[in-house]
Amino acid sequence: MPELPEVETVKRILEQEVIGKTIEDIEIYRAKNVVTGADEFVKSLKGKKIEAMSRVGKFLVFHLSEGHVIVSHLRMEGKYYAGKKEDPVEKHEILRFLFTDATRLSYLDTRKFGVLYLEREDDYLAKAPLTEVGTEPWSTDPSALLKAYRRKKGPLKEALLDQGIMCGLGNIYADEVLFATSLHPLKACPTLKEEDAEAIVKESSRILRMAIDNGGSTIRSYHPKEGMDGRMQNVLEAYGRVGKPCSKCGLPLKKIRVGGRGTTYCPHCQRDAEHPFVVALTGPIASGKSAVGSYLAEHGFVRIDLDDIVSRLYEEKEVLSKLQEILGSEAVKDGKLDRAYVLEEITSDPSLKKRLEEYVHPLAYEKAIEKEKGRDKILYEVPFYLGSPIEERTDALIYIEADTAIRAKRIEERGKNPALAIKMNENYPWEEVKKKATLTLRGDGTLDELHRMLSSVKYLN
Ligand SMILES: [Zn+2]
Repeated sequence: MPELPEVETVKRILEQEVIGKTIEDIEIYRAKNVVTGADEFVKSLKGKKIEAMSRVGKFLVFHLSEGHVIVSHLRMEGKYYAGKKEDPVEKHEILRFLFTDATRLSYLDTRKFGVLYLEREDDYLAKAPLTEVGTEPWSTDPSALLKAYRRKKGPLKEALLDQGIMCGLGNIYADEVLFATSLHPLKACPTLKEEDAEAIVKESSRILRMAIDNGGSTIRSYHPKEGMDGRMQNVLEAYGRVGKPCSKCGLPLKKIRVGGRGTTYCPHCQRDAEHPFVVALTGPIASGKSAVGSYLAEHGFVRIDLDDIVSRLYEEKEVLSKLQEILGSEAVKDGKLDRAYVLEEITSDPSLKKRLEEYVHPLAYEKAIEKEKGRDKILYEVPFYLGSPIEERTDALIYIEADTAIRAKRIEERGKNPALAIKMNENYPWEEVKKKATLTLRGDGTLDELHRMLSSVKYLN
């Protein structure tokens, strides 16, 4: 869909192609798109000269002799093409202006959503649809914007798309503005601050001006002119770049839906306490997870160890009796969970393991959420990642692995039986986890080496 920069580009092309031309006749092939009536449109405009072009938001305005005005909105896929008078009528042609110099200007619209209005110079700005158009970014007052946005209940991205407040941002440039201002697309409008509004106005102006200078973006069907493409798509930083590294921090960009619109953003750079950046850390036992955890805790992450939370849950009476229900009364001995028994039961019967997880995961997650409050960088240490409640919330997955002999040595140093501990881990589909990882680390080396690897990753620091 053409946005403000694309419409401005079309306007500039039309200025060169039609200004000074006189309409000899107008052929209308689909009258419905001429909102103010096709007959009146033809009758009033025959013999009139196109004197100037202008633009209000995403509306194109043709100024004609004797005070006539055409207001045109391209909507999804409307386009203007110039040509010769005798060119055959094209498939999606809505209407064509025939000029006295034997040229034509056609309006084509594959989706047929575009609209044209015949208006008068003295009052077209005071009538719908132009009265519904908000201010353009360069003439928007940030405090007025803040007031209007704060009244909205939905997420910020939806407010940016509201053409009645500040006009000009469609789906592409709204994503770009959010990225440039480091604001989360789902940020609740009432929580916006003065500096956020100032940044939104400033970045919207900068981005739309840059897009105009680049002739707009050519994405899918939009071309400003036959055989001509915009260049802005080459410098977009968020839109259309899902999975590609963020230009500021290197994290792969994520795509979500906001009010039905695809939205690409950086979970690290656009985080806030309501929308924290969530990192999950996993890997086989004794491969170096806790060293990574300590490093990240020193770099602003709140560390949440799910294993630890689960262990604490197993000390609660209510939890223990529920576990007995699932695994049999032998699961608890002397008021404590018999881990060896449980391990044997769940390895021999996967359905028991599933039932256990279905009960324990949500409980553990509830406790974890309490620890997240007010924090914008969260680290989850998850001994087993796949299927855990953290999986779908993960913005970055760190997988750490280490040589088996080194791991065995570490386990021994902890006073545990390495053969048993490693065996517990070995059936887990680590390769599958590794495939999902955003970052894979080796935990074989020294702590210094590990720190060096971590410090080179921007989104972790
Ligand atoms: Zn980023």
